[in-house]
Amino acid sequence: MTQTTLTTAQRDRAAGVLLGMACGDALGAGYEFGPPLPDGTAVYMKGGGGFNWAPGEWTDDTSMAIPLARAAAAGLDLRDETVLDDIVAQWVGWAKNAPDVGIQLRAVLSRTEPTASAVRAVARAHHERQGRSAGNGSLMRTAPVALAYLHDPAALAEAARLVSGLTHYEADAGDACVLWCLAIRHAVLEGELDVRIGLPLLPADRRDLWESRIAVAETSVPSDFARNGWVVEALQGAWSAICMTDQTDATHLRLALEAAVRGGRDTDTVAAIAGGLLGARWGASAVPAAWRRIVHGWPDLTAADLVRLGARASGTETLARFDYAYLATSPPSYATRTMTASGWARPGRSMRCRTRSTRWSHSAGWAPLRCPPASVTTLRCA
Ligand SMILES: [Mg+2]
Repeated sequence: MTQTTLTTAQRDRAAGVLLGMACGDALGAGYEFGPPLPDGTAVYMKGGGGFNWAPGEWTDDTSMAIPLARAAAAGLDLRDETVLDDIVAQWVGWAKNAPDVGIQLRAVLSRTEPTASAVRAVARAHHERQGRSAGNGSLMRTAPVALAYLHDPAALAEAARLVSGLTHYEADAGDACVLWCLAIRHAVLEGELDVRIGLPLLPADRRDLWESRIAVAETSVPSDFARNGWVVEALQGAWSAICMTDQTDATHLRLALEAAVRGGRDTDTVAAIAGGLLGARWGASAVPAAWRRIVHGWPDLTAADLVRLGARASGTETLARFDYAYLATSPPSYATRTMTASGWARPGRSMRCRTRSTRWSHSAGWAPLRCPPASVTTLRCA
């Protein structure tokens, strides 16, 4: 994989792709399958929902993106069949214990051996049996593919369609992944939102269809796309949320993700899709601290992990020059268990301690905290 030399702003935007996606996912998780909400309704990472998520916990959308991001971070070519074999094996392993594997994905991932060719064959058989296979399950996980091919749009289009086709045979799913990945690439490199930038890389006979679908999204609101389990309406819902909100400054990221969730139904997926592109446009630095502090999920990753993973997936050579420390200044909310203060705690001075939680110590290790009064030997991370 070709190394990419990015500016500081481009690195921030590359780092924002996975983080934005995960935050959209976790924001929508508690509202999944719910009805549209009125404008102005407060939306927050409340957790709960149909699968009893913890506040800030992401769902299948981000979990399925992690193996793709890890492969990209390792410098692997996602068009390589052996790389796809490994990704499929990780998906199958994840699906065994995940509570929220979608109907189409479970059908594809559970009925054969865990290789790319076997899963692809089942996906095709599923399509031929059902007459359709364009659920939103490949678009929801596609964002990291863009990071792997910032240097090569043609290779990106090829990889996006290949990765989509592992589980989703229908052309609409592959088209949507090509369009969204090229929009993410453009946003990272240019700092602009343009979902049409990938139209020339679609088959010629499908460009007008997608142009008309995009135009409809731009004159609609997210709740107009009630069938957002279908990849087309999921993309339209995400794009309409982005277009309908104020784009003046970086608060656009938060406002658009909240609007995506208010659209209702498949809220986590529409917001995850929107979040990948919004993170690419506005960067990791635009993600609200309240979200960064608590977002987490399979396999025991936090915001800081996603930022590092996104940066490596984008092939950034000079990562060490960028200070990501601001993303990890507070522990995630699930580390609310009793923490043992070390003996060197001093009133009014920063200290270092480690929770007894294996999740926290595994994923992030030592955390800077304010020390408690000298008489207190235990504290809680609020
Ligand atoms: Mg989900």
